[in-house]
Amino acid sequence: MKLLHLLPIGNVEDELLHELRPAVEETFHVSCQVLPARLDPEFAFHGERQQYHSSEILHRMQSFLTADSWRLLGVVAVDLYIPILTFVFGEAQMGGPCAVVSAHRLRQEFYGLPPDRDLFRQRVIKESVHEIGHTLSLTHCEDYSCAMAPSHAVEWIDLKQGSLCTTCREAATPMTRISSANLLKS
Ligand SMILES: [Zn+2]
Ligand SMILES: [Zn+2]
Repeated sequence: MKLLHLLPIGNVEDELLHELRPAVEETFHVSCQVLPARLDPEFAFHGERQQYHSSEILHRMQSFLTADSWRLLGVVAVDLYIPILTFVFGEAQMGGPCAVVSAHRLRQEFYGLPPDRDLFRQRVIKESVHEIGHTLSLTHCEDYSCAMAPSHAVEWIDLKQGSLCTTCREAATPMTRISSANLLKS
């Protein structure tokens, strides 16, 4: 059986990945496993920007894929960027297999606000579903409540659900194949 693998990157807390697991299992109808390995992201750090280049992390993540990986999602606590943008919440390989999501700007503390663990967890789930959605060839969705809606600020993330709208769910490949196989078994 193919698995959705979660890869901790840097000093991201294990608890967060274990909280993320059931949420992505439910959305993508696939078993999810947190890998015992941990990737050190220092190779992707760029001193002139004081940020980590997400594309370099995605590239390095390829070596963590195994024969039973369906998709591989890396979760980092540090700030990510791609050269044309000031920051990114995450980046994905369109059509798969790897995606990475950053928790750095999802904490209320980043904006000088008191911590809100539940809100933080919800944001991590939404952005993880979003990036995994891109690995299933999904593009951005016009439905603001769909996890595939674009978000350039946390306020936009907070408007979204942690799940895909019906249109995106039906368009996602190979998810539809996997979920219908699951339905046949049950
Ligand atoms: Zn996107
Ligand atoms: Zn949608």
